Amino acid sequence: MKMEAFTVENVPLIRAGDDIAAIICENAQLMDNDIIIIASTIVAKAEGRMFRLEDIVPGDEAGRIAHEHQTDPRFVQAVLDRSRDVLVEWPIFLVETKHGHVCIKAGIDASNVDSGFLADLPEDPDLSAANIGKRMEEITGRKISVIITDTNGRAFKIGQTGVAVGLYRIHPIRNWKGKKDLFGNILQITEESIADEIAGAANLLMGEGDGGYPVVVLRGLEMRSDDPASVKEMYRESGQDIIRKGLRSLNHP
Ligand code: GDP
Ligand code: MN
Ligand code: MN
Ligand code: MN
Repeated sequence: MKMEAFTVENVPLIRAGDDIAAIICENAQLMDNDIIIIASTIVAKAEGRMFRLEDIVPGDEAGRIAHEHQTDPRFVQAVLDRSRDVLVEWPIFLVETKHGHVCIKAGIDASNVDSGFLADLPEDPDLSAANIGKRMEEITGRKISVIITDTNGRAFKIGQTGVAVGLYRIHPIRNWKGKKDLFGNILQITEESIADEIAGAANLLMGEGDGGYPVVVLRGLEMRSDDPASVKEMYRESGQDIIRKGLRSLNHP
């Protein structure tokens, strides 16, 4: 088996209103079943989801959290505005975004962004992935998939990795339940998170710094889905999420 991954060259600094799909198609010859992995940072830039702390007026809740933890209340307010649940306030500010992604500080990011500005995650990353994916399919006539990524930390381990935050035409989970292992045993529980695996692989080429490689093409896997797909397929229901329950009991003993 073999797969190939390469960066898309000549991507400019992205500005609000830029047509990311057209930029990618100009700079790469896409083929059927290609998976196009795009850093959320450039999606946020293209969608104009940049903001400044100066424009934020913090409320009481943000004031309380910021006071307790010696942080900027405007930043805390920005995180709260983008969150529907706070899992941990301190020493990490772990939230669930309105789209359902659990991450530190709602994914607000200052890296690779004009100074003075912060970048948001896309408001609806699945929709962003679908918009970009459909447009690339229109331009090229190819059938492709899209994964929008961000860099996230992990529980239990040091080190961040690329993860999927939005998807087009690729299901995030490959289900091995009911399949056989080498000895004929039926697999009972294994669900493989292919979207995060692909995001991690692409992140190896993107890096985190000044490389200027926000787009990677992965070729050689046949994982395109015929039906719509969503990153939400891999989010645990909160009732079944024991980590979340544990964190909640820490915050509200
Ligand atoms: P995030 O993981 O979505 O927060 O994105 P990063 O800030 O880690 O950037 C990932 C890659 O995209 C790095 O190689 C950056 O240099 C690159 N990058 C970020 N923004 C731009 C941009 O506007 N244009 C180009 N060409 N590269 C960018
Ligand atoms: Mn960044
Ligand atoms: Mn980021
Ligand atoms: Mn990154």
